Amino acid sequence: MKIAVLAGDGIGPEIVAQAVAVLEALKLPLQLEYALVGGAAYEALGHPLPEATLEICQRADAILFGAVGDWKYDSLERKLRPEQAILGLRKHFGLFANFRPAILYPELANASSLKPEIVSGLDILIIRELTGDIYFGQPRGRRAASDGEFDGATEAFDTMRYSEPEIRRIAHVAFKAARKRSKRLTSVDKANVLETFQFWKEIMIEVSKEYPDVALDHMYVDNAAMQLVKAPKNFDVIVTGNMFGDILSDEAAMLTGSIGMLPSASLNTKSFGLYEPSHGSAPDIAGQGIANPLATILSAAMMLRYTFNNSLGATTIEVAVKQVLAQGLRTADIFQAGAGTTKVGTVEMGQAVVEAINGIMKKT
Ligand code: NAD
Repeated sequence: MKIAVLAGDGIGPEIVAQAVAVLEALKLPLQLEYALVGGAAYEALGHPLPEATLEICQRADAILFGAVGDWKYDSLERKLRPEQAILGLRKHFGLFANFRPAILYPELANASSLKPEIVSGLDILIIRELTGDIYFGQPRGRRAASDGEFDGATEAFDTMRYSEPEIRRIAHVAFKAARKRSKRLTSVDKANVLETFQFWKEIMIEVSKEYPDVALDHMYVDNAAMQLVKAPKNFDVIVTGNMFGDILSDEAAMLTGSIGMLPSASLNTKSFGLYEPSHGSAPDIAGQGIANPLATILSAAMMLRYTFNNSLGATTIEVAVKQVLAQGLRTADIFQAGAGTTKVGTVEMGQAVVEAINGIMKKT
């Protein structure tokens, strides 16, 4: 199990260290190779995604990624900014399928901005297409309209586009994922207004014929945004394009109260994956030992499930996380003073998960 470990900046190294400790607790045949990325790589080697880092990733089956970025790099030219590393990795490895689960553990129901009865027990999976859509469509730019009154540009434009194979491959990923869960899939589109998403819907319907056991329904994105806050538990698996997925996955993330709890996976056609927390490098709390490592730990669980096909290992981590939450352990971001909860730091939280895993493994 070859894993490239890219801790990155800010809280990255702190949270990744805990995820590695958790993976090691499972006693798997791991081969870890560490590499610099983001601001740390720029400082040391002059580029956020150095060739040496790419080579290490290429030798690996999966990447465990912390986070990149710091406000101090804001003045750098775009191609040298830390965030370019993640875009570069997505592009290089063709990571087109982004999995963002949003799970609300019952113990954290009060952390959500919605009423506990609406969100408690929430467990949905958003699958976002990651390499197409309006973020990458050509042409894009600015131009002066022929009768423009100004010397400069008078309009700006981007192109929304999806090709049939791009829609097909994300559809297959989504149907397969739905098959492993409750066999319900909601395709979110804007087929009433956009040609691109009319096409999207047609292909989804066509692919659905290969998965007769999965119930497919369709929802316009504006309605999906409403339903996510009105009755989120009615969803199970959602599949959508890059831009709608960007927005809906953040909305779903907030339903769970803390960004410190949410893992993610970005996969290509060969199950190679980049696994990272949904949050950023949190420079405001870096180096203080208070960051929540659970999103990264749960990302490591996703790695076991999706790249290494080891669902027992993945479930062991997830059960261990539930146990430490049930014990009342909370990092600052999910801490609410009250009976039975204890505020802990990054290392203590990681170690508690390791101990829970040791306990589970002794029993089995
Ligand atoms: P952020 O996600 O880093 O932080 C937002 C807020 O959430 C902060 O108050 C932070 O302290 C808190 N937070 C985030 N993760 C936490 C954790 N694990 N435990 C406890 N609290 C946590 O977003 P931001 O502040 O907008 O961005 C900071 C930097 O991160 C920027 O440079 C941004 O570009 C970068 N960023 C990187 C990624 C990535 O690496 N994939 C994603 C988003 C943002």
